[in-house]
Amino acid sequence: MNYDRLLAPPGKTIKLKDYDPEYTGKFSSKEDAAEKLGSDIVKMAALQDVLYAQNTYSLLIILQAMDAAGKDSVIKHVMSGVNPQGCQAVSFKIPSAEELAHDYLWRSMKQVPERGRIGIFNRSYYEEVLVVRVHPEILQNQRIPRALVGKDIWKERFEQINAFEKYLTRNGTVILKFFLNVSNKEQKKRFLERIDTPEKNWKFSSSDVRERGFWKDYMRAYEDVFSNTSTPWAPWHIIPADRKWFTRAAVADIIVKTLGSLGLKYPTLDADHLKGLKDDRKALVEGQTPAEE
Ligand code: ATP
Ligand code: MG
Repeated sequence: MNYDRLLAPPGKTIKLKDYDPEYTGKFSSKEDAAEKLGSDIVKMAALQDVLYAQNTYSLLIILQAMDAAGKDSVIKHVMSGVNPQGCQAVSFKIPSAEELAHDYLWRSMKQVPERGRIGIFNRSYYEEVLVVRVHPEILQNQRIPRALVGKDIWKERFEQINAFEKYLTRNGTVILKFFLNVSNKEQKKRFLERIDTPEKNWKFSSSDVRERGFWKDYMRAYEDVFSNTSTPWAPWHIIPADRKWFTRAAVADIIVKTLGSLGLKYPTLDADHLKGLKDDRKALVEGQTPAEE
């Protein structure tokens, strides 16, 4: 499947009206996409095994979306095959007092996955140019020196984020950014489901409905994010999210393709180590270890 149309081309002005939340590519139903998702989950597990063994690259997956777009479901389903030892998911919520005492990238830097691992950011530092932009009072509470906050603050943050991501990628962290593009109509439907289904009540929060009132502001902020931070080293993917099964299939496909493109290999031993291995084998076979004497 060709997912190029889900990419936000670097350097272009992005308009969300060009990205259809209901798009499902060549698939017509959940069942239709299930086989592809299943095989990608198996492939991802195999690739992760090599990523972990090779221990040089890491993969950072960034998920951004409006509420109820399906971030949790992507994490649950797409990562279901990977070894928990090589994987971590971090949720970025309203910053704590300790986090607010630092610059905004501080808490993210600490959570960047180690070499060999896959890390998922459930929300991220992009909130700093989204929710913080939609609600400017949050910025005021960040205690940045007044003289440093001017009209170019968002442009400056885009530059800082691009530089941060370039730095990470040039040090071996591959970055995949996904925006789960749910429509306003589908979000309403999912909120109503959360209210009407007792087992889903716990997922509902009335603050989500309040944020929904800022939909247009969020969409404008997101468009500016894509237009300014989709870069050749860390491009944005705008994933249709009105059909959850397609969202999962598309994200899994892109992760598998990305890991597959890294040329990952199990480490091989140099001549000295190979000789050591041979000697150890001989000792084992001949029973030369202390306990067997
Ligand atoms: P879910 O609702 O599925 O549990 P969630 O990601 O929506 O997941 P919540 O606890 O509902 O989690 O919301 C987290 C909130 O924290 C969001 O409203 C988000 O905008 C906010 N947030 C995240 N990062 C920041 C930030 N840097 N500054 C201010 N608010 C932030
Ligand atoms: Mg929420």
